[in-house]
Amino acid sequence: QYAFIRRDKNSSVYKAVAEYLLKERNHDWKKNSPNSSSFHLMFGERNKLPFGRLGHDPGKTQLVNYYRGSDVICRKTALVKVFKEYCEVVKYSYPKWLPESFRVFPKNVAKTSVKNSTVTMRAEKPDDREELLEANTRMIQEEGDKNVVWIAKHTSGAKGEGIKISDDINNLLDFVDQQDKAFVIQRYINNPFLLEGKRKFDIRCWVLLDARYNVYLFREGVLRTSSDPYDPHDLSKVTSHLTNHCLQKEQSENFGRYEDGNEMFFDEFNSFLMDKFGTSMDSSILPQIKDIIKRCFFVIKEKINTKGLGYACFQLFGFDFLLDDNMKVWLIEVNGAPACAQMLLPHMVRDIVQTAIDPVFSPSKSRKGDNWFTKIL
Ligand code: ADP
Ligand code: MG
Ligand code: MG
Ligand code: MG
Repeated sequence: QYAFIRRDKNSSVYKAVAEYLLKERNHDWKKNSPNSSSFHLMFGERNKLPFGRLGHDPGKTQLVNYYRGSDVICRKTALVKVFKEYCEVVKYSYPKWLPESFRVFPKNVAKTSVKNSTVTMRAEKPDDREELLEANTRMIQEEGDKNVVWIAKHTSGAKGEGIKISDDINNLLDFVDQQDKAFVIQRYINNPFLLEGKRKFDIRCWVLLDARYNVYLFREGVLRTSSDPYDPHDLSKVTSHLTNHCLQKEQSENFGRYEDGNEMFFDEFNSFLMDKFGTSMDSSILPQIKDIIKRCFFVIKEKINTKGLGYACFQLFGFDFLLDDNMKVWLIEVNGAPACAQMLLPHMVRDIVQTAIDPVFSPSKSRKGDNWFTKIL
């Protein structure tokens, strides 16, 4: 019998995976206490995972549900850095599907308390401001100043918090300089593809990376829709520009008016595309999505793979995309500990076990069959 430990209480997906193992796989799996050193599988904590404790038992494989270093794509500044560095090394031009992005660190104040007095330090870390200002000038010359819009997001932000959109770059830099975290200032995609009611959305895809660095895309995904019409002339109305579920739920009076919980699943969107545009997800959108995901895991492979380590990893990622009115897909961010739409959770859980856990710890009864994860790399 195999044993798992569960150290993290925050992830709703891994909570469900642990419950599934105990319920559906109780011949094969048991649960040990969180601090036990005896385990095959660890559901670790997202941020302070004790990787050092893994893999010291000779002859025994240990598996953990995060890749060490996956932050290289899951933090917004790191994602930008990884692609900028990759371009320098292999002269591969900046990816066409990543909105032009620049790292900006607050210039003015990093206040630290030292012995009862507050010392104000200047952050001297070089950032990409010069390049950002040059890009802004160039774009305005080429496209006119009303078409050049930027979005500032802090590196570890979530749920649409701490975001500002503006067509005045100096205004955004002032905003960042008053903060105490690293930011990304990114080209704002101001021609989004719109749904019925002129509403913007983003696309969430779930991606699983297994212990052998195979990459799988989950068949179902979800559009997170906004419930207020897109208004390019009012950049301050957050519910028309930011599609985060929590933000829409808390701030839009129309939450749930168009879709239950502002969620549209792929089938429904596909019908909309066929009816109105004579095209499909499979022909126009998914190929772009797969290319982007493959490129990301290809580029970070040397940074996060577990070659030479005594343990194995897998991880579920949430890739967030935006579609523009030319049907072009843009990568917006990668989440390293995504939640899962309630409706998809039972499939997700079963298929994480089949795809990422069973091949490492073979089940007593073979469990093949319907699996919504398809290998793409
Ligand atoms: P968070 O971690 O807070 O979710 P995101 O990068 O996902 O940060 O941004 C939040 C929302 O803002 C996205 O879901 C999307 O609706 C919108 N957004 C983010 N970046 C852009 C962009 N470059 N162009 C247009 N909209 C964007
Ligand atoms: Mg997001
Ligand atoms: Mg997010
Ligand atoms: Mg996020």
